[in-house]
Amino acid sequence: MPMPADMHMHTPLCRHAVGEPVDYARRAVEIGLTEIGFSDHSPMPRDEFDNWRMFDRQLDEYVAKVQLAQKEFPQLTIRLALEVDYLPGHEDWIRQLAARHPWDYFIGSVHYVSDSWDIDNPAKLSEWKKRDAFEVWKIYFDRLTLAAASGLFEIIGHADLPKKFGIRPQQDCTPLYEKFLDAAAKTHCAIELNTAGLRKDCKEIYPCRDLLEIAFQKGVHITFGSDAHAPEEVGMDFEAAVELARSVGYTETCRFNQRQHESAWL
Ligand code: ZN
Ligand code: FE
Ligand code: FE
Ligand code: ZN
Repeated sequence: MPMPADMHMHTPLCRHAVGEPVDYARRAVEIGLTEIGFSDHSPMPRDEFDNWRMFDRQLDEYVAKVQLAQKEFPQLTIRLALEVDYLPGHEDWIRQLAARHPWDYFIGSVHYVSDSWDIDNPAKLSEWKKRDAFEVWKIYFDRLTLAAASGLFEIIGHADLPKKFGIRPQQDCTPLYEKFLDAAAKTHCAIELNTAGLRKDCKEIYPCRDLLEIAFQKGVHITFGSDAHAPEEVGMDFEAAVELARSVGYTETCRFNQRQHESAWL
């Protein structure tokens, strides 16, 4: 079965991944992928914002590392992208980032539900105990809806990230998914099937089947990503992700070249 492109992978510049882009590319060739894309955590307006992303001054170094992999593996299509944190008010910063290099795509991700709480950070797991899960999901999906509506991103990353630690609200989240996916459909923003969830406590691909079914009904396109933070994670569990997408009804995936959308059969 031909595998879709792995459009979500990191580099050591974010300070919590191992292996150089050439190592990820080598692994991709080994397992038979024909296309990958690097999407490391983008710099913030202030380098001290947190400790899990590249510094602003390292952006050119990041591009050079990806270009080196492109040069060493000409048989593999390697896209240049960023995983950009969406926080309300950061729109101008994100536009500035977009202007600094000829990116192939931006993955817009919400990790922060406030300036100080990145909900997927294991060091801040105790914060979840102080909060009502549904309240957190609601704030998260409100932000994700703004991210999709902003038109700043080709892809929205790991759409139901709040489930990472296995904490889930009792309430029905369908209205949250609907609102987000209406925004994504309107701006032609894709969502990714991110297999990293299978390696976390939630033991499930991001997003869940319920969200993906609504996405399919609304005509929202999909991409695939391992969210690899090490070379051996490249393309991991893609069979399961393709199976999930097909079982929901998807027959197409998409790619991005210089921020232009291209369809591909799944
Ligand atoms: Zn990361
Ligand atoms: Fe992320
Ligand atoms: Fe990521
Ligand atoms: Zn598409």
